[in-house]
Amino acid sequence: MPCPLVPCALTLVPNFFHMKNLLLIVLSIFTLASAFGQNIILKDPEIEKMVKEVNPDSIKSYITKMVSFGTRNTLSTQKDPKRGIGAARNWVLSKFNEFAKQSGGRLTAFIDTTTLQPDGRRVDSLLLLGNVVATLKGIDPADDRIFIISGHLDNMRTSVMDRVNDAPGANDDASGCAAVLETARILSKHQFPATLIFVTFSGEEQGLLGSNFMAEKARKENWNIEAVLNNDIMGSNNSNETFIIDNTKIRVFSEGLPAFELDKKATTIRNLGTENDGMSRQLARYVKETGERYVPHLEVVMIYRNDRYLRGGDHTPFVQRGFAAVRFTEMNENYTRQHQDVRVEKSVQYGDLIDYIDFEYLRKNTAMNLANLANLAKSPGKPNEVKIEVRRLTNMTNLSWKAPKYGKPKGFYVLMRETTAPHWEKKFFTSDTQLELPYSKDNYFFAVQSVSTDGNESLAEIPVPARQ
Ligand SMILES: [Zn+2]
Repeated sequence: MPCPLVPCALTLVPNFFHMKNLLLIVLSIFTLASAFGQNIILKDPEIEKMVKEVNPDSIKSYITKMVSFGTRNTLSTQKDPKRGIGAARNWVLSKFNEFAKQSGGRLTAFIDTTTLQPDGRRVDSLLLLGNVVATLKGIDPADDRIFIISGHLDNMRTSVMDRVNDAPGANDDASGCAAVLETARILSKHQFPATLIFVTFSGEEQGLLGSNFMAEKARKENWNIEAVLNNDIMGSNNSNETFIIDNTKIRVFSEGLPAFELDKKATTIRNLGTENDGMSRQLARYVKETGERYVPHLEVVMIYRNDRYLRGGDHTPFVQRGFAAVRFTEMNENYTRQHQDVRVEKSVQYGDLIDYIDFEYLRKNTAMNLANLANLAKSPGKPNEVKIEVRRLTNMTNLSWKAPKYGKPKGFYVLMRETTAPHWEKKFFTSDTQLELPYSKDNYFFAVQSVSTDGNESLAEIPVPARQ
């Protein structure tokens, strides 16, 4: 079920609470009540309209086309105009260029290539690797934030080295690439302060080659990536063992302890108990709340691990370099259809065929991505220097922060949850850059996010302890 963020309960106001704070909280409640109206979270009409544009027929046409290339194995031909990874990436580029025409010159696309040497494992000859990248430039020149949506265009049969025979790869991962294309089609007609990047990677099955290439470039060039939404296997919620067919749930995987510079952060994490508040986990919380706000009949289920057992994904090279990145995957996977030669064995059909895609489910998952990208790209920047006062022994909580570098927020939400709770449970609005709350800092977790007039929230920033 969606996780509503409700105003604080008046019953929790303690006796010693003085009038100034009481007034502040009451004002917060009124502000929230009027903003949310009848306990309904404020929705941005522009995003609601965009979400409605996500079209299952459009998604189906993309997957049909991607399957038509026979194989998209990274080692397959790049010379044939109709077959193989070369033809597939040229087609994705042509779609991005088609969408660019409606963007007023703000969407540009290219194939970002690199040459890789054989690695003795999954690359056995010199390889020209190419990610298809479309960038929708933000309209605020001062705002250098980047939000990325990704899927992988390549696929595999039972043998990852088989570059010749048919591999439809409808779900793994034409589904993710279809989400990338459909969000690009819709979002490129709109303007956002921040920049959006739409990417279909190559070389995922060969060892996350394309995502490593982009993440390393981003690190070297200091891209200000605030979020990566990676979509991989998200078009058919259908377990092969339990035969569960349920198109109302999608998983979001996010790391717990950070892979990046854990040695430098471990002491602070241990002292503050923030092992569940890393960047990617915050992003997962955000996408759950925002996705469920805009997409009915879809639950985004947070999984507290970076990925499934023994499996990898294109979010990981970003996570390893200190960027917030999560992976979306259907709730129940079907292993008779992943990484399988197309065949019938003992009356069981194997292979990643388009017949098994649930286009309504994929529509919802695409809409969930779109709502998040739009909400993030429209939001003001995160508040800066968020601090929690820890010097005084008190049962109150005092937070302060500075206005964000980008955008003009209407105000800020202070988010709060029990230390055992997975999601933010309460939020308090203020137009100030500080807030005192009648809750003990020792008993809850807090974070602060900026919010625009249209209700677009930045990612949440957790406070650092301040001793003065
Ligand atoms: Zn995959």
